[in-house]
Amino acid sequence: MATAEQRREELVELFHEVRKCERCALHKTRSRTVFGAGNANADLMFVGEAPGAQEDLEGIPFVGRAGKLLDELLAENGLARADVFIANVLKSRPPGNRDPQPDEIAACEPYLFRQVELIEPTVICTLGNFSTKLLTGSQTGISRVHGVPQVHQLGQRTVKVFPIYHPAAGLRTPSVKEILREDFKKLPALLAEGPPEQEQSTPPPEAAPPPEDPQANLF
Ligand code: URA
Repeated sequence: MATAEQRREELVELFHEVRKCERCALHKTRSRTVFGAGNANADLMFVGEAPGAQEDLEGIPFVGRAGKLLDELLAENGLARADVFIANVLKSRPPGNRDPQPDEIAACEPYLFRQVELIEPTVICTLGNFSTKLLTGSQTGISRVHGVPQVHQLGQRTVKVFPIYHPAAGLRTPSVKEILREDFKKLPALLAEGPPEQEQSTPPPEAAPPPEDPQANLF
């Protein structure tokens, strides 16, 4: 069984692989890949849709307006970015922020599943329709499934998938923002319940040692 440090090292290797990825046409138009950022041993992972313009420039997820709302909701619930890992379905920006296409999702999906295996989260909070549909394996939309956890097997890992509205939807519609805020409040209790029973035994989580390389600010 891999230690937290071994898993983090593999995550860094995956980061370098994603950085040069040309599996879909988005590599031709992106500025940078946006691998994800945060705690490589987090119990809580967020999965958004795809990088926007600002994320594409900085290489960091959720740094625009939607990210500010995400930060606000985290803080309201006693959490910070350093406690969680934030990723997206797509690691490259779709031009003009258009919807991710099925071939792009299929090409990028193995990276997300590997991230889940390496980070070993207890809860994955899916933000909006794209990540919810991908990780629940169902076409049921976010308005029908938000706020209720579902247990799923993702690669080697059994996790609680907790769908909530995308923060960008909350910014557009005040009533959605209120629902998002209410759903978010359920996260601390969901985390406190601990992980669902694993199909294969996994070692207890270990604290990650302090980072010491240039990737330290990413994870
Ligand atoms: N929206 C997303 O889904 N992901 C980001 O990283 C930024 C905005």
